Amino acid sequence: MKLLFERSVKGRRTYLMPKSTFPKAELPDHLKRKEAPRLPEMSEVAVARHYKELSKQAFGVTSGFYPLGSCTMKYNPRVNEAAAGLPGFTGVHPLQPKDTVKGCQEVIIQAEKLLCEITGMDNMSFQPAAGAHGEFLGLLLIKKYHEERGDFKRKRIIVPDSAHGTNPASAAMVGFTVTHVPSDSEGQVDLEALKAVLDDTVAGLMLTNPNTVGIFDRNILEITRLVHDAGGLNYYDGANLNAIMGWVRPGDMGFDVVHLNLHKTFSTPHGGGGPGSGPVGCKKILSPYLPASKLGDEEKEKSLGQVRSFYGNFLVVVRALTYILTLGKEGLPQASGMAVLNANYLMQKLKDVYPMAYDRLCMHEFVMTLEDIKKKTGVSALDVAKGLLDYGMHPPTMYFPLIVHEALMVEPTETENRETLDEAAEAFMAIYQKIQEDPESLHLSPATTPISRPDEVNAARNPVVRYSFDKQ
Ligand SMILES: *Cc1c(COP(=O)(O)O)cnc(C)c1O
Repeated sequence: MKLLFERSVKGRRTYLMPKSTFPKAELPDHLKRKEAPRLPEMSEVAVARHYKELSKQAFGVTSGFYPLGSCTMKYNPRVNEAAAGLPGFTGVHPLQPKDTVKGCQEVIIQAEKLLCEITGMDNMSFQPAAGAHGEFLGLLLIKKYHEERGDFKRKRIIVPDSAHGTNPASAAMVGFTVTHVPSDSEGQVDLEALKAVLDDTVAGLMLTNPNTVGIFDRNILEITRLVHDAGGLNYYDGANLNAIMGWVRPGDMGFDVVHLNLHKTFSTPHGGGGPGSGPVGCKKILSPYLPASKLGDEEKEKSLGQVRSFYGNFLVVVRALTYILTLGKEGLPQASGMAVLNANYLMQKLKDVYPMAYDRLCMHEFVMTLEDIKKKTGVSALDVAKGLLDYGMHPPTMYFPLIVHEALMVEPTETENRETLDEAAEAFMAIYQKIQEDPESLHLSPATTPISRPDEVNAARNPVVRYSFDKQ
């Protein structure tokens, strides 16, 4: 596809302005350009077509099925955008006097109340701008808690081997060392291994439940009790609350601090680097250290202080509140119930031909392993993922979590209907047939997309993100 610069024709314009009747203002010489800017010159319709064409090259959640595991790429109701676009929210300035932004204050007060109710926490700060940022703040709270008690020897955070990569990274950023505990054959934390690493140098445990293989750890109360008994605190990575919201609460599972990804579960579009929000909720014992985030609030005496400018990404909170209020107390558990049902439905349709890493009831996502298929046929998880593109669906997450070999991780989400899930199952089956009959063809897929297989390593190491006029 040609770029705007390559389509440019000298003299083309998108507008017609009346001749100015004002005298020409002269700029001082040192402020003048030496040469005219090399902007593309095009007609309006050509620009409109260019961007339309460009949008067709990308795959979004409105293009088709987008079952990206661990990251919850779900369809976000448009009413949230309408609420976040209200001038009363978009037109405020963070330095406005407190009593002129009462409506915005009310949004944060309501969101804190409802999200604390959903998570079983007592207080929440909306400052962190993303999940990993929330982890960073949550772990600082744990560190501060121990230090305030004069307990300086607690330097370790326990992280299961199935954890999201940001967990050990955040622990290291806060200055903790990371102790990994293995998972058992069911994908749960190995209790004996956990007991073996618990002592008075443990600051806490970081856990996702359901974890990143889509399994709900049945021993959760035992796990959090063991950590508490050893004097540690429990951190809940709530980036994906999509399987449990309205059913169980991290606070009731024994967790002391949690972050949420409003840009996953609570309906802000994510991906592409857009603004996110990773609020951190905690139990009362940690509340004194939480940064203020209600507009105009003073920092409390023991607060860790600001972790981000102003009040975080406020409009993301508006979307989350709209989502929660429109679904209500009945709708939230219904949404997570559907997410779990959809994942299990698709898993059941596939599991006879695609081996599942953990063959038991899954939560909002499931993981298959193509290790055997690859050994026998040479077709890898990557080949299957690429093949799915030719059936009009976005590939699931590949090669994650790392503890499963040749992994494909599928999260259908609650918004997909049965027909879409059936079509997805058919696509998987058609690919399975190709694996048997013509495995070679899958190494060449996709065949129907604008680009087939980019050189991903080269694209990551030597990205070309700027147009070079020298090429002309
Ligand atoms: C996405 C995710 C994160 C990180 O969230 P970001 O907003 O990308 O920083 C952390 N943990 C889990 C389980 C996640 O799925």
